[in-house]
This record gives sequence, C-alpha cells and structure tokens, in this order.
Amino acid sequence: MKSRAISKWIPWVGLIAVTLGSHAGAWGEEGHQIVGTIAMTRLTPQTRAAIIELLGNDDLAKAGLWADQIRGDSKYDWAKPLHYVNAPRNENIIVLDRDCAKGECVIGAITRFLAVATDSTKPIEERREALKFAIHFIGDLHQPLHAGYADDMGGNRIQVIAFGDKKTNLHALWDSVLIYHKSQGDWRGLAKALETDMPAKEVAQWEGNLDPLAWGNESRAITRVIYNDLPANAKVGEAYYESNFPTVARRLAAGGVRLAAALNKAFAAQNAVKNDARAVSPVRPSTPIQVDKPATKVTPIPTGVPVVVPVVVPAPVTVPVP
Ligand SMILES: [Zn+2]
Repeated sequence: MKSRAISKWIPWVGLIAVTLGSHAGAWGEEGHQIVGTIAMTRLTPQTRAAIIELLGNDDLAKAGLWADQIRGDSKYDWAKPLHYVNAPRNENIIVLDRDCAKGECVIGAITRFLAVATDSTKPIEERREALKFAIHFIGDLHQPLHAGYADDMGGNRIQVIAFGDKKTNLHALWDSVLIYHKSQGDWRGLAKALETDMPAKEVAQWEGNLDPLAWGNESRAITRVIYNDLPANAKVGEAYYESNFPTVARRLAAGGVRLAAALNKAFAAQNAVKNDARAVSPVRPSTPIQVDKPATKVTPIPTGVPVVVPVVVPAPVTVPVP
C-alpha cells in the first residue's frame, strides 16, 4: 500500500510550524483522546452503561490516557512490552508465535484485557484497569509504528527533523507531531472533523474486522511504506505532511470505530452470558407456571409513516404442570 494512493478525505488547512514536546511510546495524548472521542459516539446504550459502571463515566478520551500515565510506576513495569508488537525487519506479516509469544504484546493484551473487563466474576478494580488498558492498546495498535521493527525501537531511534527545525524521531513524528500540525492543539475539533468525514464504506470494513492481529498487520503494511517514503536526509516538511496525514487520519478514525465496535461486542457477549445464566435457573416443580404474555411478533414500522398499532393484552394463562 502506497501512502500516496490513500484518498485524502480529510480536508485540511494549516501551515504553521509547531513546537511541542515529543512523546516516545504511543499515540501522543491527542491521538488517544481523538480515538476515544470517536469511539464514545458509537457505543450502544448497554456498553455505555457497563463502562459507566466500571469507570464512573463514559469518558473514553480520558480513560485512554491512563496506561501512559502509569508508565513511571514500577508496579506496572510488566505492562511496558504490551504497548506494541515488533517483527523482524525482513518480515511483512506478524506471526503470533514468533512476535507475540504467550500473548505478551499489544495484540494479546487487547484480547486478554477485553475478556477481563467484561468478566463479572473478577474484582471490580481488576476489571476497571483491564478496561483502561484495552482502550489504550486498541488505540496504540492503530499507530502504524507500534507494529514496527525491534532493532530501532519502532522508529524511536530514527532521528528526524520536522518542519524546518524540530528535532524529533520517526516514532514521535507519527505519534504526535503530524497530528499536532493539523490540530494545533484542538484535538476535539479534529476528532469532530474525522467523525463528520467518516467514509461509510471503510467504516463498514473496519467494523467487519475486529481481529487485533489483522489490525496489527494493517499497521505493519503502513510501517513498510513509512520507511520507504522517509527522505534520505530525514527532513520532513509540508510535502511529507500532506502526503501522510490522510494515513494518520484514517488510522485514528479506524482506531475509534474499532474501539467502539470491540467494546460493544465484548459487553454484548457479557450480557448474553448473564441472560444464559438466568435462562437455566431451575423452575420449582408442582407450581403452576404463569405465562404472562405470549411472544409477540414485532413488525418493523417504516419511518415517517404514522401507523396505529392495536394493543392486545392477552389474559394470563395458567398452565398446570403434571
Ligand atoms: Zn501505549
């Protein structure tokens, strides 16, 4: 996939050079907040309720930052390798046995933490942290260089000069510098623009593919293009930005859409388990079963057409149990 072939569906204007602190390790704060903001608009009511139960609110933009905020806390050192997946430079495809042994990479972490977050037998504090990790890691995996090469630490060791005088590195360029060049700090506005211009056909494709390994391989393919397109003098300016920002925008949008879809799927599965548990609860013998209401077939009503539906309330039926 050539980045230049990617359609530029995000109109942009903005030619001001930026100065901002580089952030090595993940989508910067703006990236995670944009992914979370897009996801928030796409949650089902059940998922939203489940998230509020765990986090106290549905602010996925804020929740997505936590996993980076605890990086300095040695208690969470075990989580450091879970922000990315590396594969050897000469390999195009991520192989889980080789690159994510025992699930110890961002791909394994997403699956694991979604399962814990929705497991009502686990302690609430463990579920809360698992949810925050899952939110963050789904964002991370959509940053192409989180499926990069181990030998340069996902581009962290590739020095780059951006927009004339900004010393940064390739990883940080894609984490935050390109995003900030567009947002100028207004990440809410950028999230809104991405939502408004969401390409319906691609959204359907993104939602139709909720396998984190596939997300990783998409990032991996983009990583190849990023390395091929980096100028030999490592100086990137407006031309590089114009050519590559559509890819950044698309990955942020895909991250947001998939974060919502993955949470909706995980919490729907949790509800199904709860309902199954209710369905198998034993019925006491020798008690007549009260059938309150026969199942009613629901006919879809075309929108915009007023329809009067007669309401029939059947009398309760008593079924004797032999
Ligand atoms: Zn991260």
